[in-house]
Amino acid sequence: MEDYPQTIMEFEQRFASEKACREYLLQLRWPEGFHCPRCKTKEAWLTSRNLYYCRGCGFQTSVTAGTIFQDTRKPLRLWFRAMWHITNQKHGISALGLQRTLDFGSYETAWSWMHKLRRAMVRPDRDRLSGTIEVDETYLGGERPGKRGRGAGGKTLVVVAVETRRNHMGRIRLHRVPDASAESLEKAVKEAVEPRSAVRTDGWRGYSGLKDLGYVHQIVREGGEVGENLLPGCNRVVALLKRWLLGTHQGAVQASHLDYYLDEFTFRFNRRTSVSRGKLFYRLVQQALKVNSLPRLSRKLDGLSLQPTIS
Ligand SMILES: [Zn+2]
Repeated sequence: MEDYPQTIMEFEQRFASEKACREYLLQLRWPEGFHCPRCKTKEAWLTSRNLYYCRGCGFQTSVTAGTIFQDTRKPLRLWFRAMWHITNQKHGISALGLQRTLDFGSYETAWSWMHKLRRAMVRPDRDRLSGTIEVDETYLGGERPGKRGRGAGGKTLVVVAVETRRNHMGRIRLHRVPDASAESLEKAVKEAVEPRSAVRTDGWRGYSGLKDLGYVHQIVREGGEVGENLLPGCNRVVALLKRWLLGTHQGAVQASHLDYYLDEFTFRFNRRTSVSRGKLFYRLVQQALKVNSLPRLSRKLDGLSLQPTIS
């Protein structure tokens, strides 16, 4: 069952102690109770330092091991607040905003937290888009005043894929690509879109191999140029993305960090109709527990969580 606070009052009351935060993480990480990641034993001693000491094989672990909270020296309560704030601001917050909200002494800490949490915003096992998808590229960054010096002029090319359903936009995917060659674009489309879907693009030759890759390729117009597009879904997403980068982050986005921002934007956009902000918080906590763990390990844990409870 999805269990999350609905309001700031509920949040404050519920996560007032380290113990309460840890219990929430436990519930999300091991819904059926503790399982040793090594030997699957369900019995463990809990040490005074909140380590689980497996009774089967002696393996020691904790609820935060292998997650973004591993080795943190800050209280979990502070992490929870950060996640609550990030998911409750409709447009997100900058590292500076987080630093102020949480009263961090250092900007660097706030910045590194923002980046860890952005990584958690993308589910490693997320589905690809399907149905009818508009695909286009756009250039980001580089041309704004005030950011000369580092990476000046270094515009970044991003592939935008948007599900369209009867004039409504569905989910999106954003991929940074090195260039607009067929090799780069096809790779991006394959990562973002299910085969057999209808992919609408302009007539750029970089897309001409899509049919051979198993897509239904629809060309909306011959002879399109980068940035000049007749794909309304892509246009809309690009406009929102640019406004978001300029507004929330004052354009202070370095090209090397762009992937994290694209992930955050995608997370927010794809959940824009979610009624409850608390649910976004829940998803973020859930994903923060998965992001650093080894894929094989997390798959094992998923399998185990389907077994009946023995407690
Ligand atoms: Zn064990």
